[in-house]
Amino acid sequence: MSKRILIVGSGFFGSVCARELADAGHHCQVIEKRDHIGGNCYTRYSEEADCHEHVYGAHIFHTNSQKIWDYVNRFASFNTYVNRVKAAHGNKIYSFPINLLTLHQLFGVNTPAEARSKVAADCVSNNNPKNMEEYCLATFGRTIYETFFYGYSLKQWNREPKDLPAAIARRVLIRYNFDDNYFADRFQGIPIGGYTAIFEKLLDGIQVDLGTDFFSDQENWIQKYDHVIFTGPIDAYFHRQFGALEYRSLRWETELLDKADAQGCAVVNHTDANIPYTRTYEHKHFDLAYTKDKTLLTKEYPLNWEPGKLEVYPVNTDKNQALYAQYSAAAQELAGKVTFGGRLGSYRYYDMHQVIGAALKTSADLIETWR
Ligand code: UDP
Repeated sequence: MSKRILIVGSGFFGSVCARELADAGHHCQVIEKRDHIGGNCYTRYSEEADCHEHVYGAHIFHTNSQKIWDYVNRFASFNTYVNRVKAAHGNKIYSFPINLLTLHQLFGVNTPAEARSKVAADCVSNNNPKNMEEYCLATFGRTIYETFFYGYSLKQWNREPKDLPAAIARRVLIRYNFDDNYFADRFQGIPIGGYTAIFEKLLDGIQVDLGTDFFSDQENWIQKYDHVIFTGPIDAYFHRQFGALEYRSLRWETELLDKADAQGCAVVNHTDANIPYTRTYEHKHFDLAYTKDKTLLTKEYPLNWEPGKLEVYPVNTDKNQALYAQYSAAAQELAGKVTFGGRLGSYRYYDMHQVIGAALKTSADLIETWR
C-alpha cells in the first residue's frame, strides 16, 4: 500500500531514500531547513573560476562497491580526479597520505625495505592500541605522528590524540610504495557539473520545501504522515533528553584570488598546531578545470560545536557512544513510525558512499515491510 512519507533533510540519506521510495510508488515530501538541497555536499558554480565550489568542505567521492558506484553513475558522470593530498609542515611540503615519497622526504630512504625498517625503528610496539596516540605510535612511529598527526588532530578535535579513539587515525593509510592516492577504493572521482546536480536528479518530481524547519512544528509534522525519515541530529529529535551528543563543527573562508593556480593541487593539509586552519582547498583542481586566470581558495577552520553551528563530525568517544546507545534505543521504540539515518541521524563518521549504501538498505527494508 502506498505510504505518505516525510523526509527531513535533503543530503544523501534523505535524497536517496526519497528517490527509492518514490520509485516504489510511495508519496514522498522532503523538507529542508537550509535554502538549498544537498546538505553538506552542496556545490555552487563559480563563473569567475569556472569550477564548482564545495561550499561545506571538500567532498571526494570514492567507493569499493560496484553497486554504489553504478547507483551514483545513474545521476552523474564522474571525472578522473584522484585525491593526492599534500601536507604542509613548517616550511616543507610532503606527499600525503604517507607513502614512499613521504618517507624519502622525511628520512632520506629510497626503497620499500629501507622505509619499512626506518618506520619500524621509530614505532612503539603495541598490539592493542587504545587511543589515537598509541595507534599512531604503533603504526607510523614517533616522527610521523609528531609531523602529521599531533598538531592536525589537536586542531581538528580540540583534544589530545591520547583522548581520541584509534579508529579516527585508521582512516589514514601508510604505504611503502609511491602510490599517493588518499583512498584505497576501486572507484573515485568528482561529479562533472557538481554535486548539487546529483541531488536535483535524485529529487526530480518529488516535492521539496526549502527553508522549512521540522523543529518549528515537530509533532504536527509527524502526525501528518504515515512515516518519517529523519536525517538531522538524533539527540535534537529527542530534545536532548539524555544529554547533548558532541559534534565538531567547521567554518570556511573562501577567497577569489587573482591567479591561475594558488597551491598546485586540490587539498593541502596544514599539520602545524599553531596554524589555525587544518586544510586549504583549491576548487578548480577538483573539477580539473583550468580555463580561468582566477581561482577559489578555501581555508577550513575547525570549531567547537554549539547550538546554531553546523554539526559536521560526530565525536566518537566512549562517553558519546554510551549516550548515543540511549538515543538509539529510544529510536528503536519508534521504528514503526520514524527511521533515523545519515551521519547525524546515526551519529556515525560516515563517508558519502557509506551513507548511500545505508540509504539503499533502509529504503529497501521499508519497501519490503510495506509490501
Ligand atoms: N589526520 C591528521 N593529519 C592529517 C590528516 C588526517 O592528523 O594530515 C587525522 C585527523 O585526526 C583526522 C583523521 O586523521 O580527523 C581522519 O582524516 P581524514 O582525512 O579522513 O578526515 P576527513 O576528511 O574526514 O575530515
